[in-house]
Amino acid sequence: MRRLQGKLAENPAVQAIAVVALALVTHVSLARQSSMQTAKLPSARELVPALTPFVEEHAHFDEKDPAGSVRSAVAALGRENAAMILFQISPDTFDHPGRYDSEIILAEVKQHPGKLAITGGGGSLNAMIMQSVATGDAGPEVQKKFKARAEELLREGVIGFGEMTAEHFDGFTPYQTAPPDHPLYLLLADLAAEHDVPIDLHMEAVPQDMALPPDLRSPPNAPRLHANIAAFERLLAHNPRAKVIWAHLGSDFTGFRTVDLDRRLLQAHPNLFMEIKTDPDAHGRNYPLGSDGRIKPEWLKLFTDFPDRFVIGSDQHYPEPKDADKRWQETILLFNQLPPDVRKKIGTENVAHIYGNSVAPFLHAAKN
Ligand SMILES: [Zn+2]
Ligand SMILES: [Zn+2]
Repeated sequence: MRRLQGKLAENPAVQAIAVVALALVTHVSLARQSSMQTAKLPSARELVPALTPFVEEHAHFDEKDPAGSVRSAVAALGRENAAMILFQISPDTFDHPGRYDSEIILAEVKQHPGKLAITGGGGSLNAMIMQSVATGDAGPEVQKKFKARAEELLREGVIGFGEMTAEHFDGFTPYQTAPPDHPLYLLLADLAAEHDVPIDLHMEAVPQDMALPPDLRSPPNAPRLHANIAAFERLLAHNPRAKVIWAHLGSDFTGFRTVDLDRRLLQAHPNLFMEIKTDPDAHGRNYPLGSDGRIKPEWLKLFTDFPDRFVIGSDQHYPEPKDADKRWQETILLFNQLPPDVRKKIGTENVAHIYGNSVAPFLHAAKN
């Protein structure tokens, strides 16, 4: 399959289709209006694959159908020109019914080495942090249990800790908040550094204490949000060998995940990485794409100024929801506009660097 994907990327017909598609339709909705596009791509009318292989570094699955989710993700690889798909576990709390962690799908994922991999802890380590925030107990016993669970996940075969959260609005899982420099987060950074695995962090940007944005409801969300950027910087500085991936750049619901903030943090913290996510159904604020589908110049400059620090993490769910526009497609329409050398890094090389031996050998085989 890796060789096949290589061929797909090199295949002039696929490249030509993708280039034509990109030139004609920089946005999916425009693609629907293009009869020429329909004629060119009879079987996958609107879908435009990545011009060169990429890793979908942040995807989710249906925990009620792990086998079907895996089948669906594997089937999507060729269609998207994805070299690999990494599953994340939604950040959750102990009192949310239906909570799960990586074990629910790990056996199926392991049947596809080099194509699929998974992080862990969203349903356990993250829940332990939320519980510790609620009780105020982050003492030695709590830390011991936390460390044991993190090490258990790694022994079982997860390749990172995620999806963790420090500020998460109510959605698939409940509203959650925790200081990013909470003692258990500092411990997690030490464990991540020790085992050379990354932490994937979902955190709405809150530079100063603020009221909940008016388009969000409270409850279920908190009426006031606590400042988290300074604490996030303390986490990053606590152990510079711990790689932290700040999820969902392009999906900003407070309005403070700006180019300027991202740039300042990337400059200050070499261990910080970011996932690009553009959701056609929820642009949020500070969306990197204009209404014409083109990357806005200030975002393009950020990606090209820090080409080693971004990965593609569209937050796509598998199986793909029928009525939703596809997050992977919107994110790949952005990806396809990047200069080839930047695209190569953001597509596969940065993921190989961040995750190391668990994925690098497979990605080096997926020629860009
Ligand atoms: Zn998330
Ligand atoms: Zn997610």
